[in-house]
Amino acid sequence: CGIVGYAGDVNCPSMRPLEVCLQGLERLEYRGYDSAGVALTAPGMDRVAVRKKAGRLSNLVEDIEARPLPDATVAIGHTRWATNGVPNDVNAHPHASRDGKVAIIHNGIIENASQLRLDLQAEGYRFVSGTDTEVAAKLLGKIVDTVIAETGEPDLFEAMRRLGRMLEGAFTILAVDCRQPGIVVGARHDSPLVVGLGEGENFLGSDVAAFVAYTKTAMEIGQDQAVMIDAHGVAVTDFDGNDVPEPVVYEIDWD
Ligand code: GLU
Repeated sequence: CGIVGYAGDVNCPSMRPLEVCLQGLERLEYRGYDSAGVALTAPGMDRVAVRKKAGRLSNLVEDIEARPLPDATVAIGHTRWATNGVPNDVNAHPHASRDGKVAIIHNGIIENASQLRLDLQAEGYRFVSGTDTEVAAKLLGKIVDTVIAETGEPDLFEAMRRLGRMLEGAFTILAVDCRQPGIVVGARHDSPLVVGLGEGENFLGSDVAAFVAYTKTAMEIGQDQAVMIDAHGVAVTDFDGNDVPEPVVYEIDWD
């Protein structure tokens, strides 16, 4: 139901990505939610770190205080309003790829999730949750592996575009990959996504409330577009990889 993403400098791992996500989720609480979670990564990690809890955001914060997460360069955070699968810890987002190297968060409903799940199960994939989102997570991990097989390099941005072409329904999706610990990528169809432009850091949100505490400059992501942020820049394309020449940038009027 609420989405936050953060990318900071890869040379400077810190607590900031986690803090920005938790504070952004707090700002998005007004939308209502039943669970909350974060995923983060940094150079040298061989899996994305995921923590998620059903119930209030304070449950998640207490859990992180009891078992601290590693410093990070990028992070994503989610508050869930369950549509597919009951509200519990396992169904909470983020959801991970089979190898744990990729994690995603999702707002919306993926209409073709049942068919995609059957296809993946036929290939031996196992599912731990009842969500449509886990299907997208497993599929994105598989697409990243395909891109690596084709080009020799992980490319989460390209993988996200391919995922965007395969999903039906409504979605805002953000993803991180431990092999590319400087970026967060996203895609949207019939569900909102905005970028917050900072200095030496950039943000993503389901609405500007997610990052308005840090920057007042925002950029719209259009229908069927994919975005990649790092600490110093933003790239936007359609799902076929064509550049979006002039994304709309505006100042947030917050009173
Ligand atoms: N359909 C997803 C789920 O049930 C996402 C719900 C949401 O937008 O929070 O987990």
